[in-house]
Amino acid sequence: MKESTKALKKKIKSRLDKERYQHTLGVAYTASCLAMRYGEDMEKAYIAGLLHDCAKCIPNEEKLKLCRKYDIELSETEKAVPSLIHAKLGAYLCGQEYGITDPDIVGAVRTHTTGAPGMSLLQKIIFAADYIEPNRDAAPNLEEVRSLCFSDLDAGVYRILSDTLNYLNGRKDGAVDPATRETHDYYEELLAGRGRDESGAS
Ligand code: FE
Ligand code: FE
Repeated sequence: MKESTKALKKKIKSRLDKERYQHTLGVAYTASCLAMRYGEDMEKAYIAGLLHDCAKCIPNEEKLKLCRKYDIELSETEKAVPSLIHAKLGAYLCGQEYGITDPDIVGAVRTHTTGAPGMSLLQKIIFAADYIEPNRDAAPNLEEVRSLCFSDLDAGVYRILSDTLNYLNGRKDGAVDPATRETHDYYEELLAGRGRDESGAS
C-alpha cells in the first residue's frame, strides 16, 4: 500500500464512527478482491472503498448545509431522506477534503448507493462491495449474492438492485430513489440482451 493511501486511511478513520470504519475497511478489502478478479487497479479500488462513506457520519442538518454551501443539487428523494445525500456529498469531499480527484474514484463514490446506468468497472465494484462486504449480515441470500458478484459482476449488480427494490417496497418508510429503479431497469435490459445474443449465436 502506498504511503499516501495509509495517510488517507488514517484520516478517514478520524471522520467515521467505529462501526462505519469497520464497514469501510470491509468495503475497501472486498473492492480490492473484486479488482483482482476483474482486472481493475487494486489500489484504486481500495481508495474508492475507503472514501465511499466519507460523508456518512456528518449529521443530516450539516449535510444539507454543506450541500447548499457547495451548490450540490439534491433530488426530491434526497431532500426527504437526507441520509441518501452522503454519496453525492462524499463525491464532492473526495477532492475538497481528501485530495482525490481521479474521476473514476469520485464517480464510484457518487453512485455507490443507487448505482447508475452504464457504470464503469470500478463503479460496479464499489456498488457490489458495499453490499457484500464481510460485516454485512442483514440482506437476504447474501452467500449467493457474494458468489454471484465474483462469477458475474453485472448479474451480481442486477441481483443487488432487485433485492434492494424488493426490500424497500416491503417497507412503509422505504423511499426508493428513482435512480435505483433506473439502474435496475438498465441492468435487466443488459442481461436480457446478453441472453438474446447468446441464443442468436448458437
Ligand atoms: Fe453509503
Ligand atoms: Fe457503505
